[in-house]
Amino acid sequence: TAQILDGRALSTALQAGFADEITSAVATGLRPPGLAVIQVGEDPASSVYVANKRKTCEKIGMYSVSKDLKADISQAELNALVDEYNADPSIDGILVQLPLPAHLSAAEIIERIHPDKDVDGFHPENIGKLAIRQPALRPCTPFGVMKLLQTAKLDLYGMEAVVVGASNIVGRPMALELLLAGATVTITHRFTRDLEAHVRRADLLVVAAGKPGLVRGDWIKPGAIVVDVGIHRQEDGSLCGDVDFAAAAERAAWITPVPGGVGPMTIAMLMHNTVQSWRERVACS
Ligand code: NAD
Repeated sequence: TAQILDGRALSTALQAGFADEITSAVATGLRPPGLAVIQVGEDPASSVYVANKRKTCEKIGMYSVSKDLKADISQAELNALVDEYNADPSIDGILVQLPLPAHLSAAEIIERIHPDKDVDGFHPENIGKLAIRQPALRPCTPFGVMKLLQTAKLDLYGMEAVVVGASNIVGRPMALELLLAGATVTITHRFTRDLEAHVRRADLLVVAAGKPGLVRGDWIKPGAIVVDVGIHRQEDGSLCGDVDFAAAAERAAWITPVPGGVGPMTIAMLMHNTVQSWRERVACS
């Protein structure tokens, strides 16, 4: 059965490294990295993610400011808050938790964040840089998947990689990362005619469709690498992904669990991006 790609262990190790770096820097008189986390409204899933991000900042010695805004805040007020953090020299990263209430434009707010402080990596400039092989701040979830694969020393050159899902925040940047790593990449989405046929060909499969159980275990190519980005809360309170884990693990060589796979890596890469932005900022000041 498959070896586990342990995102929890790797995330913990990466965080310990950031904590050491921050402690040493602060001991020499430098300011710590600063992250501003903005949440609009009270979506329960978002609240869990935001609380986790704040907790992780604290744990590694990062300075974090949290803004919880009422769901009926105007676009102009939200823009003004982002402008404030763009200009704030103690802030290295700005994150606006998505999804936003329907009257607000995510695209507008993503473009408003200065690309150098865009630690989610969603700004068109950062996505564009990834597309032309000059990655700067990279979207956290796909970047976390790459770190997990690199740490397991999995060489992706020439591999048939299939990405299920084509969202701006996961599927698309995931495909760009895999292309950058030398894989031959297929992107599938809700209009794909024969998902099973694509999945069966995959040496490396990354699933981010948000559909529990979408990928059946018997579709997995023997010896494949399976990365499951999906997260769903089941009726009994436990979490599951988009892939039938037990059956897939019988065929795959490597697989990510849910929970404990991609989820913890996303947070680790958010910290990575904030530390990266801070390093450049403190070096220039
Ligand atoms: P999304 O809804 O924005 O995008 C889903 C994508 O899947 C779309 O491109 C859609 O076309 C495609 N899709 C839907 N049904 C499909 C099907 N039957 N066959 C093929 N493609 C299909 O979702 P998202 O924001 O990209 O998130 C996807 C999943 O990943 C969700 O479960 C989300 O909770 C999870 N997620 C996890 C992390 C993490 O840190 N682990 C981060 C972000 C998202």
